[in-house]
Amino acid sequence: MSHHSLLVVPAQTEEEAETQTLDASDNSVWRFRGSDTAAKASRVTMRVVVYKLFDLCTLDVKKPLLPLAHGDPSVYPCYRASIHVENALVDVIRSGKGNSYGPAAGILPARQAVADYVNRDLTNKVTASDVFMTVGCNQGIELVIQSLARPNANILLPRPSYGHYEGRAIYSGLEVRKYDLLPENEWEIDLQGIEAMADENTVAMVIINPNNPCGNVYSYEHLKKVAETARRLGIMVITDEVYSQTIFGDNLFVPMGMFSSIAPVITLSGISKGWIVPGWRIGWIVFNDPQGILKSTGVAQSLQQNLDISPDATTMVQLALPEILLKSNKEMFAKKNSILKQNVELVCDKLKDIPCVVCTKKPESCTYLLAKLELHLMEDIKDDMDFCMKLATETNLVLLPGVALGSKNWIRITIGVEAQMLEDAMERLSGFCQRHLKKTETSFQALKLSENGET
Ligand SMILES: *Cc1c(COP(=O)(O)O)cnc(C)c1O
Repeated sequence: MSHHSLLVVPAQTEEEAETQTLDASDNSVWRFRGSDTAAKASRVTMRVVVYKLFDLCTLDVKKPLLPLAHGDPSVYPCYRASIHVENALVDVIRSGKGNSYGPAAGILPARQAVADYVNRDLTNKVTASDVFMTVGCNQGIELVIQSLARPNANILLPRPSYGHYEGRAIYSGLEVRKYDLLPENEWEIDLQGIEAMADENTVAMVIINPNNPCGNVYSYEHLKKVAETARRLGIMVITDEVYSQTIFGDNLFVPMGMFSSIAPVITLSGISKGWIVPGWRIGWIVFNDPQGILKSTGVAQSLQQNLDISPDATTMVQLALPEILLKSNKEMFAKKNSILKQNVELVCDKLKDIPCVVCTKKPESCTYLLAKLELHLMEDIKDDMDFCMKLATETNLVLLPGVALGSKNWIRITIGVEAQMLEDAMERLSGFCQRHLKKTETSFQALKLSENGET
């Protein structure tokens, strides 16, 4: 797996990180030490878990490491960014115009391109001044959370979720409250739960649509209810739409900005996932706020001030953005999404024969498949972490335990890889589950197979 060499940084376990801090505090000569805040915040990110699992893989298992816990399709040739997108950047570099600093909020042509791009799907149009360029969608998350953090404030995050929100909220001192996504309800948001947990210190709710890690796309009706709930509670909606060009099911994507006349909406997105160039580090924040509430409450000013003290997004990629966003990318999106669709079908098909791992809803977006573990069918597996640790140790296959995303006893399989890898992964997973199946279940399984004439 040579192309992963960039990702597999020397692993440091949680215990090692803690020991380091302790050693430093014992040291009476030096007055400095590492920050505890960062340690607390990083503990909730999935990187820690993934590195722990990588460490369990060994050469003793005579199989290559299969890293299906995190996702970056760009490392595989079949997901290579389109030549048009690469040329757009090459042209900017050759022009020599992309070498300068830009303004904190981004350069105007980039902000205008984002406004034009999102306005295609919006009724309440936005202008370039509603758009702020960021270093990837992740910096958008950081800036918005930092702008909302004040003493006692709390923010509502989904469970399961993309981990960066919780990590940054902890780092900013913003209290986190988690609402549930309901697997039995196509992963819809538990709106009653939201009403119950919100109070006068709640400032915002975060939704991720299309949803990483659940793989669903929310309907118009459900999003409208989200906006109405936010309105009743007096909070804003922060919507993460970084996967809006990674959809391969039947449900159409509806931007949350459609409901901005009900409650203010901040949209976070970028080109990392749709255009498969996560290394280019370009994202944006869009204010969907026809009534000017973000301004009158001081959130807009706070964001501007946070931008003033943050690194600017790369000028050359910003300059290429009109070309990247506004020229047709239909074919590129279609090609990517059809590969992902085939991969989902492949994995769902194979999972039908693995009784301990159940896909409750076929993903229709993003690059992951969330599956439920039927632990009662297994002999010696305690929970999802135990499952993934034993799986890595015995087979060199690394999957993400749901606990890293907030869903205990689920696992997440990355499907944004090559089909051959998924075939291999499903074979290893199947063998692993066979070995750990309860004895009675083993005979049941044998029976089922022989009935199908597959003895
Ligand atoms: C990958 C991802 C991001 C981060 O995107 P970058 O543009 O690479 O910073 C943000 N949110 C979600 C839900 C993601 O999956």
